[in-house]
Amino acid sequence: MVEAFEQLPTIGKKSAMRMAFYIVRQDKSFGLKLCNTIEEATLTVKNCKKCGFISEHELCEICQDEHKDKAKLCIVQDVKDIFIIEQTRCFDGYYFVLDNINHEKIDELTQLIEERKTKEILFAVSPSIASDSFILFIEDKLKDFDIKFHKIAQGVPTGVSLENVDILSVAKAINGKMMV
Ligand SMILES: [Zn+2]
Repeated sequence: MVEAFEQLPTIGKKSAMRMAFYIVRQDKSFGLKLCNTIEEATLTVKNCKKCGFISEHELCEICQDEHKDKAKLCIVQDVKDIFIIEQTRCFDGYYFVLDNINHEKIDELTQLIEERKTKEILFAVSPSIASDSFILFIEDKLKDFDIKFHKIAQGVPTGVSLENVDILSVAKAINGKMMV
């Protein structure tokens, strides 16, 4: 159990041992319930067909939400970033997870843009030279569409991933978005 827990992000040997000891000392139902929860999630959670977010259904809750602004699309590089941005409540559009760039992903993205008639894309990527070239590359792929491109502004330090930035800073970065 310790070895298994150690494979989790941010969990070192000490924490892994603490968790394992805690579980074996509890009532048996505690460990079994935990097992079941993990098993159930592992078997049912998949990626949303439209945006790549995680979901128990074909389409995630966000893509199923009719009240969002269809003209706005936020591109993130990691599923986790959607959770973070949703917590800020500063963005009212839809999302697309572009974790690696390939033909298939670009096709999915252009299909989504056509379908939703996207007018504005917000790149929620932490500032770095690599993310600037990522943005330029995507902009070039979408140059035939009439879309305004923005990226999140200052508040997110260079080279730091969104999950390590506090919510307030992410909110400021979204509100202070700038043209790219
Ligand atoms: Zn979705």
